[in-house]
Amino acid sequence: MDRIAETPPASQRPSLQTGKLITAIAALFALACLIALGALFNIATTLNTNEREKSSFYAHKALEQRLESSRQFLSSYAVWNAAYDHLNGSPDLHWAYEEKNVGDSLYGASGYEGVFVVDDQTTKYALFKGQLSKAPASTYIENPLAPIIAKARNVAAERQQITEHVLFNGWPAVLVAAAIRPDDEVLTIDPQTTSVMLFVDQLTPEKLTRLGTGVGLAGMHIEKSDAPLGDQPSLQLGDTGYRLDWITPRPGDQLLWAVLPPLLGAMLVLGLLMVYFFRYALRTSREIDANLRSLQASNQALEASEQRFRAVAEAASDWIWETDRHHRLSYLSQRFVTVTGFQSEDWLGQPLNQLLSCETTPLIQWLDNQADADSPQLANLRCAYRDHTAQMRFCRVSARSIVFDGKLVGYRGTASDITDEVAAHARIQHLSMHDALTGLANRNKLSRFLDQALLKGQEATPLTLLLLDLDSFKPINDSLGHPAGDAVLLEVAARLRESTRDGDLVARLGGDEFVLVMNGMDSRNEIDRFCARLIDNLHQPIYYEEQALHIGASLGVAQTRLQGTDAGELIRCADIALYHAKAEGKNTWRYFSPEMNEQIQYRRQLENDLRKALKNNEFVLHYQPRYRLETLEIVSVEALVRWQHPIEGLLGPDTFIPLAEQTDLIVPLGRWVLHEACKTARNWPAQLLVSVNLSPAQFSRSDVVKDVHQILVETGFPAQRLELEITENVMLNDIEGALGTMNALKELGVRLNMDDFGTGYSSLGYLRTYPFDSIKIDKRFIAGLSSDGNDRAVVQAIINLGKAMGLTVTAEGVETEQQLKALGKEQCHEVQGYYLSKPIDKLAFEALLQSTQNSRADVC
Ligand code: C2E
Ligand code: CA
Ligand code: CA
Repeated sequence: MDRIAETPPASQRPSLQTGKLITAIAALFALACLIALGALFNIATTLNTNEREKSSFYAHKALEQRLESSRQFLSSYAVWNAAYDHLNGSPDLHWAYEEKNVGDSLYGASGYEGVFVVDDQTTKYALFKGQLSKAPASTYIENPLAPIIAKARNVAAERQQITEHVLFNGWPAVLVAAAIRPDDEVLTIDPQTTSVMLFVDQLTPEKLTRLGTGVGLAGMHIEKSDAPLGDQPSLQLGDTGYRLDWITPRPGDQLLWAVLPPLLGAMLVLGLLMVYFFRYALRTSREIDANLRSLQASNQALEASEQRFRAVAEAASDWIWETDRHHRLSYLSQRFVTVTGFQSEDWLGQPLNQLLSCETTPLIQWLDNQADADSPQLANLRCAYRDHTAQMRFCRVSARSIVFDGKLVGYRGTASDITDEVAAHARIQHLSMHDALTGLANRNKLSRFLDQALLKGQEATPLTLLLLDLDSFKPINDSLGHPAGDAVLLEVAARLRESTRDGDLVARLGGDEFVLVMNGMDSRNEIDRFCARLIDNLHQPIYYEEQALHIGASLGVAQTRLQGTDAGELIRCADIALYHAKAEGKNTWRYFSPEMNEQIQYRRQLENDLRKALKNNEFVLHYQPRYRLETLEIVSVEALVRWQHPIEGLLGPDTFIPLAEQTDLIVPLGRWVLHEACKTARNWPAQLLVSVNLSPAQFSRSDVVKDVHQILVETGFPAQRLELEITENVMLNDIEGALGTMNALKELGVRLNMDDFGTGYSSLGYLRTYPFDSIKIDKRFIAGLSSDGNDRAVVQAIINLGKAMGLTVTAEGVETEQQLKALGKEQCHEVQGYYLSKPIDKLAFEALLQSTQNSRADVC
């Protein structure tokens, strides 16, 4: 694209050439016009010049002829014996005029205005316009006569005459003079003595018109010599100061007038046509140039786009394909070779569906549907194929029809390799359906399996669901560590698998809980035998690092034939049966029975009531103070939840907390307790701590850190006054996670107290790792304090240990003075128990606070 923008001047070159050509043609045309006009004017001028010369020649000739004829005519009078006789001496007027020998006919018939006979001194005879005149010739003739007379006498011998242009009576005339002499062969007289006869032929307009007409010249006339002449020819009439003019035709001009207008018209039209043509040619040329440029540009763009396409096609992880109308491959991008390992030539020309296949939709049909669909969106189809190593691969095929001139000519699209994606998906699928440790089905798969099997309803073969819980697994896990626990679980999983058939399902629900779904096993007999065998099987020692580990198993049994086809319900029934099996001595199995169902009903009712109670705010907090043993002043107070049941009255936490923990209701309930405790304690003395119990379920099913943080912010209760009581159970399932949560809680500024200390499996280990501020010795040990037994030593050891670790040690469940004293002896820090105060409601506690403060004041 950029390259195109850089080169516009070069692309304009063609139109510049056209411009030059047009200018040259226009110049040639102008030159041709000029030459034609020049030639025309030249011809016209030549014609005019020729005509002028011709007319001059004819005018001259006409005048000459007139003179010649005048000379001859005069000669016939002058060279005449009778004239010599009658006129040379004294003139015989009678002879001459009366007898008309030289009479008026010379004017009337021959047109001579003046006829004179003169000699050196006198005019002997004079006729003016045919009339006798007494005036001398010089009266009429302005030129001096003497030279004329002399010349005439000089040529007399040769019978010659002389001619002169003279002014006669003020007007140009032709004068002919000849000496009068006898008509002898040889002149016998002296010509210098004879008289001279003069004939004057005045050049009158009429005569000139005749003269001109005689030679074809129009407008012959006399003009003064100094009159402007123009381009016309003329003849100078001697020294008379006049000239002879005539009108010369100008054929050149005529030619010009005749030819020039149409010629100019033609040239103009031609010129206009040429201008039009040039403009048209220029425009066309520009258009051609523009077309050429845009063609070049689009060629470049096309090339760039092709390069881009190639680059994209090669760089993309997808390969690109194209087929003809019959789905035969006509193009495969280079990427195809890389991905599939095939050569393009192996497949070009082959139908696409021979390469790719789809399990759900025939590929060809799908392609044809693409052609029919107007949707601009690319559709995708998951296809499979075998690459050159015959390994199965998957790709996501997109396709679009290629339509040319409204006709379908083929298809094109891409194929993205999704083999890894499919594998990952399968893996995720597997993981989401299977237990990561044992590879058995997990709770998800179990639900799905049950749903599918039970969907068939009555027609389905009856199913038996066995819920299995390992006995004595926790001690192994806690004492030998997780690897041992995992090894046990793996072995159990293997044994369970071995004991079942193909159509059965073995699942692990988490921890040491397993489910077996037995297909077609329905009779009690059969089930009993299977359960006994299974328990026996699991009872066999499991070897871990050459150590024989013994575990047991309890089973709860539920059957579709008896307990219905709801998966959740079945598991719940089996769970209840399992509970009974465990309660009745472990290593055994129990069938679910309707009596057990009553418990279910009760629990369900309770669960519903719990939900409602939360909504209706039926919970209250009671407060049990904690005392510093030395001074017995209240240093802390524990919030303990109670349920103000609308029917059953005030219920203790043992009746509903376990259920709340099982049903997730513990999360909102725990939040409520925390919020209520903080809100209430905000108004109590600043040095008073508040303890709130946290359930392990709150750790695993909610974000405790976030909740505590939020509640502290909401209530404005100082974090350092809040103490959270946590039992060791929190650490049982997820040691790492629990540690992280506790550290985060500590970062909020709250205190952590380990509740019921001494009842867990490996309490001492936890103390070192976890960020506790205090421990609370379980009330079971305190109860045993009164008797001088083992418990006393335990309490003593715990107090010492706590102290050694810098922890505050509290004894709970102090019911007697004796116990209190014993604890005082062991230098326990703090005490709590019925002996000092039972848990009491808010008002009572506030009253208690008040009274202790008063009594202290009294003491002071
Ligand atoms: P705990 O945290 O060990 O609380 C002490 C229990 O011992 C309380 O029972 C208390 O009333 C009782 N007790 C106190 N002094 C004496 C005594 O001198 N002798 C005897 N026999 N018992 C005494 P309560 O209130 O019934 O609570 C039972 C358990 O319910 C608590 O045990 C605690 O684990 C749980 N609980 C109570 N409130 C909450 C709560 O808000 N959240 C959670 N998650 N659990 C709670
Ligand atoms: Ca507690
Ligand atoms: Ca406790």
